[in-house]
Amino acid sequence: MIEDFTASKMARDSDKPVLLWFRQDLRLADNPALCAAMASGQPVLPVYILDDETPGAWRTGGAARWWLHHSLAALSRDLDALSTPLVLRRGDSRQIIADLVSETGATAVYWNRCYEPFARKRDETIKAALKRDGIAARSFNSALLHEPWTVENKAGEPFRVYSAFWRACLAKDGPETPLPAPEALESAPAPQGDRLADWALLPTVPNWARSFETAWTPGEAGARDRLTGFLDAAVNRYKAERDRPDIEATSRLSPHLHFGEIGPRQIWHATQAAMAAGGASEASALKFLSEVGWREFAHHLLYHNDTLPDHPLRPEFADFPWHENGDALAAWQRGRTGFPIVDAGMRELWATGWMHNRVRMIVASFLVKDLLIPWQEGEAWFWDTLVDADLANNAASWQWVAGCGADAAPYFRIFNPVLQGEKFDPDGAYVRRWVPELAKMPASHIHKPWLAPDDVMRQAGVTLGETYPTPIVDHGTARDRALDAFSRIKKAA
Ligand code: FAD
Repeated sequence: MIEDFTASKMARDSDKPVLLWFRQDLRLADNPALCAAMASGQPVLPVYILDDETPGAWRTGGAARWWLHHSLAALSRDLDALSTPLVLRRGDSRQIIADLVSETGATAVYWNRCYEPFARKRDETIKAALKRDGIAARSFNSALLHEPWTVENKAGEPFRVYSAFWRACLAKDGPETPLPAPEALESAPAPQGDRLADWALLPTVPNWARSFETAWTPGEAGARDRLTGFLDAAVNRYKAERDRPDIEATSRLSPHLHFGEIGPRQIWHATQAAMAAGGASEASALKFLSEVGWREFAHHLLYHNDTLPDHPLRPEFADFPWHENGDALAAWQRGRTGFPIVDAGMRELWATGWMHNRVRMIVASFLVKDLLIPWQEGEAWFWDTLVDADLANNAASWQWVAGCGADAAPYFRIFNPVLQGEKFDPDGAYVRRWVPELAKMPASHIHKPWLAPDDVMRQAGVTLGETYPTPIVDHGTARDRALDAFSRIKKAA
């Protein structure tokens, strides 16, 4: 009798769905939570929750919302091809998961892990609540090569220096082989969901994201094409040219990685395969993977330091004498500082939702050191305007530039925006592209138009203060002011 009951209960449970909760893993290939849900033998019910409540100030920013819309549309299409609908719900994830479990009778909820402090807290609460109700909750790693608790130094502590961290990662067993995408999926009857369009993730009037469309193809297929294109064409230029914003020598995978349309294991194995086949030179390919290593490092830092997005890792920087200056901040945000490489970067960011890494470092240094504006202001602007806005990478990088992070650039190393422009955009092509009012300036003067002779300015049609701003600071004076500010915290420390 008991056996009959158990058998019929098992039969009933096997008809009940497993909720597959998509978060920052918007892909079907190499998705361990999806594979485990399929392996359960139960029907799978995929869901995405737009939760603007849990992250607080770090809710998805404007440009990333544009990406999210298109990425969800792509994921929905890919699931439709497997006759499985993606259920969309909006609100506090804790409540929505509880609602979905009770509406569908799901016996389990599976997801891939996130590492933001608010996400970890949320997931712990949800896991505890599900377990209390007898619902299975399982989580997996889809986002990192090695999870934060698996890489530590000899003292059993997290690394604070990138080079030692990456060496330790390379000494570990290589990341597992990526899982294939499913060819078929047993789906469950879907409960009522929202319409993606009703979430209003896309800008309307003005449509500031119009030019994003020519720059990007969000979604898993777009990510795959981007990686293949990079490994086929640009990877061998990566080591030598990755610092040149005028040349497309980097992968531009960052937004795809942030949304989990592709995972680092896939990148790792595809790059190793390209090396083994002789298509990718070892020096360039390993340099590329080491940058993926910076992403890992940033995620580990965030995991071990909850306050990374808001507070300096080096505590003495809490008393740094910043100068709040609304006008200078606005000039920086709009790309109207009068320093061409800075303005080109900020305008590239506005137009495409992305900026080249070298230029990110230049504009960040300019904000924090030439203008003495707190790094958190720059971090917040990037958060709203980058399609790849990522809590770990953004916070760790801003702290790195500001000199207050782990393994940071020393504060006294202050980028000269003119020399940086001349070195990394030697012909001025990048500036000409994004600052069209300087398009006719010769390369010799394009990075310092205020020093150009009158006849050069006349021929280029540039009048400072009219067609293009005069520099908002004198770099030499600003540099001395920054060093003076730094010496004050050094004395205090
Ligand atoms: P590639 O050079 O092709 O590198 C491959 C991948 O490695 C990238 O997609 C990225 O995931 C990772 N990566 C590369 N460089 C870094 C780095 N320095 N730190 C962490 N990961 C890295 N990156 C983000 O993804 N999101 C952010 O919000 C972000 N904010 C930044 C803010 C500042 C001030 C600075 C200086 C850098 C920031 N970065 C951020 C890091 C870096 O600029 C971008 O990851 C990179 O420019 C993306 O271009 P790519 O995909 O062509 O990189």
